[in-house]
Amino acid sequence: MSPRMRETYATGTVAQRAELAETLLGEVNGLLSLTLAPPAKLADDFDGLVDQLAVALDRAIDEPGHGVDAGATRRLVAALSLDGQRPCRGLLADLAEILFLPREQRSEYTTNREITPPYRVRKLLLEYAVFGRQIDEIVGVISKAYCAQHCANPPVGCCHILGYDLGLVPEVMLELQRLEALRRGWQPNSDDQKCRYHTATGCVLALFKSPACVGYLCEPLVARLRVERPGPELDHFLRALSVFNNCDLDRRKVFRAMRATIESGRALIAGG
Ligand code: SF4
Ligand code: SF4
Repeated sequence: MSPRMRETYATGTVAQRAELAETLLGEVNGLLSLTLAPPAKLADDFDGLVDQLAVALDRAIDEPGHGVDAGATRRLVAALSLDGQRPCRGLLADLAEILFLPREQRSEYTTNREITPPYRVRKLLLEYAVFGRQIDEIVGVISKAYCAQHCANPPVGCCHILGYDLGLVPEVMLELQRLEALRRGWQPNSDDQKCRYHTATGCVLALFKSPACVGYLCEPLVARLRVERPGPELDHFLRALSVFNNCDLDRRKVFRAMRATIESGRALIAGG
């Protein structure tokens, strides 16, 4: 675990620690659709806090949720965690670094620097899920009404077969897509025209959609946006989204593109 994260927690005030714990839990809750609450009394050090939260997470992911495959949730956590012995703990520790530390201060960049490249695929995919979920929400706000009312190709829309992949998504992410879908109660459809993740309520994925999917807006939709939301905010957003949309899943570029998409997307929504 990152010494910098321990220091961040140790030097924080009680209110700052509480905020950190709430933000961390909020992100876990969002990623896994849970409702975990912070402990009444927070641990005095960061390792203790992660232990506390990991116990709560470990319990929660075995509780059967409505329409959710609890076993798939545990498998998803295990697939994202670098700690094979204590997956919940590993997930929380990595998530804290992703949320609270600048990239260059994270443990994968400060340890083993001289002998291995500074990346760990699972952690990068966890980071992808954190930002992917935010972009998915933003694109949903911007596109949902138009897609529901004006799509020229309902109900499949742009989710044709192989749309989720396009040959650009690594195997490890394809497996995470499958686990994410399973934990939402998905069963593969037998339609040979549409994407396997397309359901009666739209795409079942929110965390691991490929860049080609999460950033896709068809031309008629973009034309409508130019009428409804004209201005520099839309231009910035479309430019950032296009960079992300065409990104390989490399280590830095994709996350820069995701952050730019989130910032410009929020500015666009705030502008009305
Ligand atoms: S983005 Fe365009 S093609 Fe895709 S669902 Fe929306 S309206 Fe249909
Ligand atoms: S993964 Fe989701 S967004 Fe992408 S093509 Fe399939 S259903 Fe559509």
